[in-house]
Amino acid sequence: MSELRQNRATKRWVIVAGERARRPDDFKVKEVSKSLPAHDPLCPFCTGNEAKTPAEVLAMRVPGSSANSPGWQLRVVPNKFPALRPVGDLERREEHAFFRKMDGLGIHEVIIESPVHNENIATMTYRKVEQIMLTYRERYLHLGADTRFQQVTIFRNQGQRAGTSLVHPHSQLIATPIVPSNTRHLLEEAMRYYDDRGSCVFCDMIREELKAKKRVVLETMDFVVFEPYASRVPFETWIVPRRHNASFGNISPGEARKCARVLRRILGSMYQVLGDFDYNYMICTAPFKDANESYYHWHISILPRLTTQAGFELGSGIYITSAFPEDTAKYLAQSIGVGSRKK
Ligand SMILES: [Zn+2]
Ligand SMILES: [Zn+2]
Repeated sequence: MSELRQNRATKRWVIVAGERARRPDDFKVKEVSKSLPAHDPLCPFCTGNEAKTPAEVLAMRVPGSSANSPGWQLRVVPNKFPALRPVGDLERREEHAFFRKMDGLGIHEVIIESPVHNENIATMTYRKVEQIMLTYRERYLHLGADTRFQQVTIFRNQGQRAGTSLVHPHSQLIATPIVPSNTRHLLEEAMRYYDDRGSCVFCDMIREELKAKKRVVLETMDFVVFEPYASRVPFETWIVPRRHNASFGNISPGEARKCARVLRRILGSMYQVLGDFDYNYMICTAPFKDANESYYHWHISILPRLTTQAGFELGSGIYITSAFPEDTAKYLAQSIGVGSRKK
């Protein structure tokens, strides 16, 4: 029997297709991923090829090494083919009094997570993932000081199905002079819920998930990891901090480290049960000006790309998923702790 389910925070409906429901172990990636070398001379992100990227804006380096040369553990560089560039102004212009446009003003950066070509964030050391998260935070704060930008979106595309062709481990961020409509939608729904109930919908959601105990994959002192009641895709996973906080920019370095360890544990466990799977993750956070609101709550959403969305999803915005989050969460929760070091 199919079910229509609604996510109370996003108001998005999904269909859990009961007739087509698959067991959690059916999603394991079957193709054997071809083994990659630790260094690829043709890869622009590999050590020795620093000149193939624009000059670094931040790097973690061994003492004595110079910028844009080997000797780094992590580099942040502007995207060579950026979606937006830091030129132009904020003026909105009308064309024929109806069409609207702006200069493509913004910042598009790449966080090269490791000098090792074939490393995978799901199996990296905890320390390296902490460095990545601390770098996200540092760039977020740096770009937040630029009054031209309203929001920074930090994201990771892993694998071809997630939209990347470069296998070298990296994430990206884009600072935009506008609030993206997805964020606007989430903010408005959260505000409506707050007006109606007097509480944050995300705080309520983690409380209810902990009470229901059906979809929680992992809980620590600071974070709750669960598969949303109305998951859009099989194994959709949210990492939500227990402390109410609208903005990723408000977290301390200590919280960033803890978040990194949780992210590493959950990705490690997904990697274990799903194999070398493709996914996107996004840090969902309030725009800079709403950083201290009571109604919004930052979180990380991981969307595995195990299935393909098609016309119905694009036309209706309703995702059809072929797995119950109760089943996939249970499966993941069982595997966690088996292969991921507790730290
Ligand atoms: Zn490489
Ligand atoms: Zn909250």
